[in-house]
Formats: sequence, structure tokens, C-alpha cells
Amino acid sequence: MNKKLLPYGRHSVSEEDIRAVVEVLRSDWLTTGPKIAEFEQQIAEFVGVKEGVAVNSGTAALHCAMFAAGIGPGDEVIVPPLTFAATANCILYMGGRPVFADIEPDTLLLDPAEVEKKITDKTKAVIAVDYAGQPCDYDALRAITDRHGLLLIADSCHALGARYKDRPIGSLADLTCFSFHPVKHITTGEGGMVVTDNPDFAEPIRRFRNHGITTDHRQRSERGTWYYEMTDLGFNYRITDFQCALGISQLKRLQEWVSRRREIAASYDRVFVDVDAVQMVRIRPDAYHAYHLYPILLRLEKLNISRTILFQELVSAGIGVNVHYIPVHLHPYYRRRFQTGAGNCPHAEQRYEQLLSLPMFPAMRDDDVEFVIQQITQVIRKNQR
Ligand SMILES: *Cc1c(COP(=O)(O)O)cnc(C)c1O
Repeated sequence: MNKKLLPYGRHSVSEEDIRAVVEVLRSDWLTTGPKIAEFEQQIAEFVGVKEGVAVNSGTAALHCAMFAAGIGPGDEVIVPPLTFAATANCILYMGGRPVFADIEPDTLLLDPAEVEKKITDKTKAVIAVDYAGQPCDYDALRAITDRHGLLLIADSCHALGARYKDRPIGSLADLTCFSFHPVKHITTGEGGMVVTDNPDFAEPIRRFRNHGITTDHRQRSERGTWYYEMTDLGFNYRITDFQCALGISQLKRLQEWVSRRREIAASYDRVFVDVDAVQMVRIRPDAYHAYHLYPILLRLEKLNISRTILFQELVSAGIGVNVHYIPVHLHPYYRRRFQTGAGNCPHAEQRYEQLLSLPMFPAMRDDDVEFVIQQITQVIRKNQR
């Protein structure tokens, strides 16, 4: 019989979560109702800021952040290449231009020194990505964005629950984006949120998620009026109340889940630190890492098989390894449109060749973790040079 593949990430949904969703399905408001503000307030409070605006994906959250930042044609926004395409795509949605700055080869995070090199008189903002769940060096990035009068935006889709120098992710940038896709820390099916301490950013985002209209359906119904104005070109990025009910219910278990992710990471660390063909990603001592992913770097010169073969062997052994990510500037669309390509960001390109994400989700049992460790060490040992 075919053994079920242990995936690299997976949601956990409890009976309590299901009850919370069903309760909303029986209520008057399936969308634009009270659960949205409740979820927004709870996430904002959790990360220690004033405002949260919930939307229907992490990608929508990024688009909203670019709108609030006022990005438009002619503007440049600096992004790391080792991320999901949406981090850079959101700049294009607003007509801006993504400029790729390389990562630090040891932490795999956006390198502040590289950011500084890419700043021109067209630069408006920097998007930091907390790759795998490890916070970027926010003090260093903030010093640069302040000095040049730029906005600092965080794509923290990997890092809900992480902390930098004991400050929560979500409170460190001008605008921070989260995703609630099922592989992320908590889920609403699809969903996302922008959090910010600045009401002047939150207000336009609330409009932008609702076609650029100044009031929503519930506000008009409460005021007994049909009149509304569309002041900007927005989108329908609304999330539903039953999704937010799921998010509220999931949030109760977030801290426990991040602890479990850290426990799994510690088990992996203990073994892989002594495996010659594995290079560990450096974790900064000031980071409280949320481990959305657990990536390892293969020292390919110490192996007589390629990453592709290793990947395939592990998948056939039932280990759902993955690779995060193909550097964005190497995708055909970016190559064609911006003439990007190999050599633009050498650290990201080299690390990409070595990367492998191991299964990492809170519902993994200790014997799952042991199985992953045993299979990987076995395949590596068999093929070591
Ligand atoms: C998941 C993710 C997104 C997009 O989130 P969706 O909810 O899938 O739209 C953006 N950036 C990063 C780094 C992500 O991991």
C-alpha cells in the first residue's frame, strides 16, 4: 500500500474551529459582518499595533500595502529575490518596479548593505521578507529607510508569532502583511491581513479592499442610506465572516503551535548540525524564529547525487520535501519584462541550488520527526562523497 506523503506543511482544524465557522453560517452576516473587526482587533493586539485590515489573501494584503504606500508608475521598491513571487508582483500591480537586492548567504534574509546599494532617487519603499519565519534585521533596515526617507514594509507571511529583539513581528515595519493560507501559522482557508500602527495607512486600505468605496454595506444599512462614493480604484478583497471566525478560533492556538514548530526545529538542529553534507541556516541570537519552514542547505560538493535525485528519493520514501524558492528574478516573466537573470543576485542563486525544505507543521508527531531525520540521514549517508 502507498504510504501517505508527509507534507512540508499542513493546517490543523479542530472541532471547536468547525463549530465557530458553523455558528457564523447560521447568522445574519456571512460577509462584512462583526467577525471581521473582531479578528482584526485580535491580530492587531497580538502583534502590538493599533490597526489590522483583513483581506482575502496574503497577496491582496501586499497589494493593499503597496496602495497605502502610494506606489505608482516610475517608483522603485526594493525586494529580496528569495521569496514567493507575490512579494514582487504586488509592486507591478501598482505600476511600480521591483528592484532585487541580494540576501545574506548565511541567514538567507535581505541584506541591509545590498539594500543600500540599490537605492536611487526613484526608490519609495523596501519590502523585507522574514524568510522561513526568521525576522529580518529590522534595526539595520529601519536605519537605512529612515536615512533615505523610505517606507519599510514587511512581508511577514512566514512569521506570525516571531519576535525580533523581543519585539513582535507586525510592530516593526510601517506596514506588515500576513497570510492565512493553510500552510501558514494559522488559516482562514484563504486570507490575509495588513497591520499597522498608522491609521492614515489603515483607512485607505479599508477602501481599497472594497472597490475604493468609502463605506461598506453594513455601515450604509446601519445608517439607513443607499448613498456611497467611490474615490479610488480598488478591488473586491473582502474576506468573509466565517473565514474570520476560523481565524479567531485558530489564533487561540498560535503560541502553542509556534512552540511546537520550534521544538521540531530543535530536533532537526540536533541531528543535522553533525551531518557533513548539510549546512545549517544561521539563526541570529536576537531572533525568536517562528519556523514556517525548516530549510537546510546541501553541500552538494560532498554528495555524489544532485538535489533533484535526493528530492525524488525522499519523496518516494514518503517525505514531502520542497524547495523555497526559485529566485523571483529568474522566473520567465521577470526575465522577459526586466531583463533580469543569473548573476543579478549571486547569493540567492547559489543558495537556491542548495535549498531543501523539510516537513514542518505543528501536528507532526515525534515519530514523524524521527522518520524524516532517519530517512534523510540514510539517503545522505548512502550518497556521501
Ligand atoms: C504565502 C505567501 C504570500 C502570499 O500569500 P497568499 O495568502 O497565498 O496570497 C506572500 N509572500 C510570502 C512570502 C508567502 O509565503
